Amino acid sequence: MKFETRAIHLGNHITDNTGSVVQPITLSTTFEHGNEANLLYTRAGNPNRLALEELIASLEQGVDAAAFSSGNAAGTAVFQALEPGSHIIAPDDMYHGLHNSMTILFKGIHEVSFVDMSNLEEVKAAIRSNTRLIWVETPSNPLLKITDIRKVAEIAHEQKAILACDNTFATPVFQNPLLLGADIVMHSSTKYFGGHSDILGGALVTKEKNDFWTKIRTIQRVGGAVPSPTDCYWLGRSIKSLAYRMKGHAEHAMVLADYFLSHPKVERVYYPGLKNHPGHEIASSQMSGFGGVVSIQVKGGAAAADKLISELHLFANATSLGGIESLIERRAAVEGPETLTPQNLIRVSVGLEHTEDLLTDLDQAFAKI
Ligand SMILES: *Cc1c(COP(=O)(O)O)cnc(C)c1O
Repeated sequence: MKFETRAIHLGNHITDNTGSVVQPITLSTTFEHGNEANLLYTRAGNPNRLALEELIASLEQGVDAAAFSSGNAAGTAVFQALEPGSHIIAPDDMYHGLHNSMTILFKGIHEVSFVDMSNLEEVKAAIRSNTRLIWVETPSNPLLKITDIRKVAEIAHEQKAILACDNTFATPVFQNPLLLGADIVMHSSTKYFGGHSDILGGALVTKEKNDFWTKIRTIQRVGGAVPSPTDCYWLGRSIKSLAYRMKGHAEHAMVLADYFLSHPKVERVYYPGLKNHPGHEIASSQMSGFGGVVSIQVKGGAAAADKLISELHLFANATSLGGIESLIERRAAVEGPETLTPQNLIRVSVGLEHTEDLLTDLDQAFAKI
């Protein structure tokens, strides 16, 4: 079955006898011994979480998925599953929450090198005898840098290291890292999977059920950072429309990227769908669409960027991305003093409002800076 069909039908196991068309939410935290579904206790397994995991595994073309209570919990589980003393190679512009996980929680436990993942020579040069994990995030946040997943997979596997890919920005609608050589895919379901800025969640998907995956499952069950049955239900519901939302986000992002490109008050535009983007060719070879996030640098520095944001009505000034409503944010202000992000950089999560309304709003705000 095609992606759109699987997104709607997979995992939808009707667990009552009322003739329901959608699977009900099973709130019970415990289950009677000897039940047919072999359920024990909801931290170890719940019908709604199992349904969500079956769905996400299929959409990412993996053999199994594990749902977590946030994207950060999912990513952290991967770092935790490594033997202590492992060396990790991660992108220098890694999502800051997972950068924090690595540098705060695993300080003194693992070694980490942050490199420019779009430069393969830098990745190769960072390899050490104890390198066990290479982490990629493509497109990256917020510079939309593109990493060649196939090439980095070769480097990782030569070293017998695991390649994990944060696929939050692309989603499985546009990119399937497991088919490009990655071993593990990570998602913040809070973003496009949820799609309506109202659910926190995360997921890992594996290409193989191996020892590493068994460890991830143990961390999920014993560590206990699992989503509630209700959150799993709403996530599954949102994913049913993921393909159509992503097509809309990408189409709208391209319209805004073109608009920014020709705007005299914009210094630079970052969108992998643009031919002048340094990663455009690689993006075209591994993605079937370029996603819904566009970043720009505004002329006039941080002050002009802040003024533009404050004059917009349809774009909420807020962290996060992937919702149907457009969001905008000056990233350096959020990432703190050590960030490499340019001070005048604005990230736009392009929503599904009509593009004419979005452009009208941008026109009036640009006129005021
Ligand atoms: C938001 C995000 C995360 C973290 O996810 P949470 O659900 O907020 O914990 C990880 N990676 C990327 C690329 C993200 O955008």
